[in-house]
Amino acid sequence: MRIMPNRMDRGYFKYQSEFEKKATDVLRSGWYVLGKEVSSFETEFSNYVGTKHCVGLASGLDALWIAVRLLGIGRGDEVIVQANTYIATVMGITMNGATPVFIEPDESFGIDASKIEEKITNKTKAVMVTHLYGMATKMDEIVRLCKKYKLKLIEDCAQSHGACFNGRMTGTFGDVGCFSFYPSKNLGAFGDAGAVVLNNDELAEEFKVFRNYGSEKRYYNKIVGANSRLDEIQAGLLRVRLSHICELTEEKVKIAERYTCEIKNKKIKLPSVADGATSVWHQYVIRCEERDRLIQYLENKDIGTLIHYPIPPHLAEAYQNLGYKKGDFPFTEHLAETILSIPIYNGMTEEEQSQVIEALNSF
Ligand SMILES: *Cc1c(COP(=O)(O)O)cnc(C)c1O
Repeated sequence: MRIMPNRMDRGYFKYQSEFEKKATDVLRSGWYVLGKEVSSFETEFSNYVGTKHCVGLASGLDALWIAVRLLGIGRGDEVIVQANTYIATVMGITMNGATPVFIEPDESFGIDASKIEEKITNKTKAVMVTHLYGMATKMDEIVRLCKKYKLKLIEDCAQSHGACFNGRMTGTFGDVGCFSFYPSKNLGAFGDAGAVVLNNDELAEEFKVFRNYGSEKRYYNKIVGANSRLDEIQAGLLRVRLSHICELTEEKVKIAERYTCEIKNKKIKLPSVADGATSVWHQYVIRCEERDRLIQYLENKDIGTLIHYPIPPHLAEAYQNLGYKKGDFPFTEHLAETILSIPIYNGMTEEEQSQVIEALNSF
């Protein structure tokens, strides 16, 4: 049987009766958008992360662009961001007319903090950190720099639900932590969903007003907002998944530990988590100089893989206007040519794990 890069059905069947009961309850409730399930989820998720507030939104991208907007960042402003992130992080900046300033990552795929200071100008307003692949970024130096230069700090936690640095969860280090609950994420809904977490009372209120057409009271619009509401079914289903998040994370950590112990091939470089950080293994990303031949080799053994991501944002067709060219971020570009995400998902059998390990070891 083919091993796919991800199997979202397994995560569903694991708690099938709980999910189905919750969906039925919401369908029968007669209330479908922004209700009790959403507010309960917001309370439970902020308790889990360790922030005062959580505001449910329609997607991870919405969490990012609305965070940038409500922190007052726009045209003429610069935001520092890592060059190897998913393009959504960058869109969160450019959708507000602000300019992304890219920084190369370090060996753990996180933003290289030692390269931030030289890129700070009088236009710099914020640093955006992506905890990529489920690995928490080393945050101490970044937090220090943001304090020193009075910069906002936004965390893209779309891949890092539950990952910690020095015992603190990602999403708690900056002004706003942005989460996606897209179905393939570690805490996945069954459609689009997202949220922000934060400690600032006023800002939390602003997110609530903004997500619902800028109205606090129905049909009294204070500001020009957007429609970025979270619906009751997604919130209810997320509550079910959140109640099992510890065992779900533990399961992925175990698979990753097995990969790290048992994959032994000089041609393959295994991922390394930064000092003081943990990973929740949204992806298990290996590096290989003969990556494309490896993909084919695994494909012949019926093992599917993915590349996160083949084209860095600065080289994306969509961002030609930024004026970058090949060679501007050599390490990021090298990573894009050598990284490979191997199958890792909840409900992956030991047999499937063994098949992946054997295939990689025999390459
Ligand atoms: C998935 C993801 C997003 C976007 O989330 P959506 O819910 O798809 O809008 C943003 N940043 C990163 C790093 C992601 O992985």
